[in-house]
Amino acid sequence: MSARPVLRSRLARERSERALSLLQNCQFCAHRCGANRLQGETGPCHAGVEARVFHYQTEVGDEAELAPLFAIAFSGCDLRCDFCNTGAESWNPRAGDSVISGLDCPGLRFLAQRAEHALNQGARGIMILGGEPTVHLPAALALAAQLPEHARLIWKTNAHGSGVARELLEGVFDVWVADFKFGQNGCAKRLARVPRYVETVQENLLWAARQAELIVRHLLMPGHVHCCWKPVAEWLAGNLPETKVSLRSGFWPGWHSRRHEELRATTSPADEREAFQLARSLGLNLIP
Ligand code: SF4
Repeated sequence: MSARPVLRSRLARERSERALSLLQNCQFCAHRCGANRLQGETGPCHAGVEARVFHYQTEVGDEAELAPLFAIAFSGCDLRCDFCNTGAESWNPRAGDSVISGLDCPGLRFLAQRAEHALNQGARGIMILGGEPTVHLPAALALAAQLPEHARLIWKTNAHGSGVARELLEGVFDVWVADFKFGQNGCAKRLARVPRYVETVQENLLWAARQAELIVRHLLMPGHVHCCWKPVAEWLAGNLPETKVSLRSGFWPGWHSRRHEELRATTSPADEREAFQLARSLGLNLIP
């Protein structure tokens, strides 16, 4: 893991400016659609040049070692998970309040002030999330540039970013909380409309583990212990055996879950028992 540069604010500021220019041929996520977002074109994420934040508050529901944290959530996402628990905002980049990507944006300054206040009140870090924040790298990095230098910054991601995104993000965040939702590309295609999911996430996780603290999250889905959790767990055991793994059992059949028969319920106690037993048998570094 490489040390973070002393002046993160400067690094993030430079990267934000670069990211803004790259919107003319957007390659931020693994769709690499090349939309000219500066000219109004949009890709699968539907995001333009404007970034919006739909949620900012202190939260206690994340991993115990991170909570409480101050969370700032950008709307819009490059995946289309039918079970998304913030689907209305995650699928709609026009949800929430506008924060332009410029470094002098009053909206970003306001968020940075709120975050600093939360830190002073005892929050242990600041999490930037979505939707998917990778879609809004210019604004997310401009925000990071305004956050206190000493703050523990957490990047919460779907791990579907591209190499372009990795270059822009390297060295800016202390912790990456990255999802590994599907163990098979067939499930990813059916439930989130994304191709080559498994390879993309694995590439991102291996990279993230080298340059930041990494927590891999997997949300157990009903009926997906064998097709999804098992291959994810086995890959983690074989490739990132020391990495912290957050196995989450709070699936709720919201948003468009009803489109899929197996997602019309919560996970069963038997599924949960089996999933945790598998994790323990593989020696995964489970965290609460
Ligand atoms: S974030 Fe991804 S889907 Fe959205 S415009 Fe950029 S490359 Fe395309």
